[in-house]
Amino acid sequence: MSIRTPVVLFAFAFLFSTAAAAQRAPTAIDWDALSKETVQVLSDYVKLNSTNAPGNELETARFLKRILDREGIEAQILDTAELKPAGRANLYARLKGNGSKKAIALVHHMDVVPVSPNFWSIDPFGGTVKDGYVWGRGTIDMKGQGIVHLMTMIAIKRSGMPLTRDIVFIANADEELGSTGAIVFVQRHPDLLRDVEFLMTEGGANEVNDGKLSYYGVGIAEKRTFWQRLSVVGTPSHASRPTKLNPVPRLVAALDKIAKYETPLHVTPGVDKYFRDISTRYPEPRRRWLADVKKGLTDPKAREWILSDVYWNAILRNTISLTGLQGSNKTNVIPAEATAEIDIRLLPDTDPAEFLATLQRIVNDTAVHFTGLLQPKPPLENPIDTDLFRAIERASRDRDPGALVTTPMLTAATDRPTYRRAGIITYGFEPFKIEAADIQKGMHGNDERLSVTNVAFGIRYLYDVLRYVQ
Ligand SMILES: [Zn+2]
Repeated sequence: MSIRTPVVLFAFAFLFSTAAAAQRAPTAIDWDALSKETVQVLSDYVKLNSTNAPGNELETARFLKRILDREGIEAQILDTAELKPAGRANLYARLKGNGSKKAIALVHHMDVVPVSPNFWSIDPFGGTVKDGYVWGRGTIDMKGQGIVHLMTMIAIKRSGMPLTRDIVFIANADEELGSTGAIVFVQRHPDLLRDVEFLMTEGGANEVNDGKLSYYGVGIAEKRTFWQRLSVVGTPSHASRPTKLNPVPRLVAALDKIAKYETPLHVTPGVDKYFRDISTRYPEPRRRWLADVKKGLTDPKAREWILSDVYWNAILRNTISLTGLQGSNKTNVIPAEATAEIDIRLLPDTDPAEFLATLQRIVNDTAVHFTGLLQPKPPLENPIDTDLFRAIERASRDRDPGALVTTPMLTAATDRPTYRRAGIITYGFEPFKIEAADIQKGMHGNDERLSVTNVAFGIRYLYDVLRYVQ
């Protein structure tokens, strides 16, 4: 009897306090229902053909805006006059937090690369869901990720999760060709980005083979594309009487020197961490070689083994691939000009002008002219010691205890440098665990597909990252 009153009182107090907390605490999310909804939205998004060119992103932007409007999240369609040709757009939306910390942006591109329908076993724009997959162009690159951004933000809004950071949602046009969407957006709307501290987009790489995860890869750096055309002008004549003014052998000699040139090895901070992280998965002596890769590369045996991996080789140096070649279009005619195109990929801390000067010195022939085929993007290397990196590590290890969360460098190009130049810490973050074979086959290829399991995984994973970074 004596203890009864306090118990009742305690129970009453408990009920009262939970009722008060319920006003502030987020409502539980029905993840199964949200996964189904996300799969449906992705399927609808895939049906909008945004093949670039021409992109047609105004239609996809309107689609996203309709969904955001319905949820009461204010969204704006932007840059329709500036993006060419007509029918293109960027989209911007923001979910407000209490402003005590800086914002975090989720960015994807709405355009997709063209398809060769003959090689597909299914309509690439049918949005078909079957055999546990959403099929279609863009499911991996990167409409799947875009819809996970969208639906996770919507889930946060619906649940009433208190936010210290605003969540910004950006969908860009034209990543696959000219990158004009991101460039125009960053140029025209610095006000919308001013308070953004972190940004997540494509360029992450979680490695999964036969269901086994090797690591979660956060993209903190990428190579810079620096394509060049080499040309030599000669005097055209009949090939039956060889002359010294044939531009072809001169160009070939230059190319031979470039092909034989071994670019120096150089370890950037993110690559250093990547090798140190993965070293734990190898037996000695490989473990030792990778744990301190700079030192490892001084050992001839280690060096030979490390560089035999084409990916490792590509993240340890500037690379040059000789690709295009043009001489005469007739066997019996010495042409007026011979040209070659070379694909150069620079490490983020290499100065393009210096690298070009080195190549010219190696070729050592003033008759060989170098012309840049595109303006290299700004360098991309981001810090690792951040709240966002720690949030990604924590959310990843929730799912796979003891998992490696590492920083492989991307050898291809994304829109990230454009945002990085605006002062934003920009990570490649992949919310999925896609089989390497599916990426190999589907990304820019055929029968692109994303599993329903991955969609469900992605929204919860991103939700946790956003929760932990608050
Ligand atoms: Zn992409």
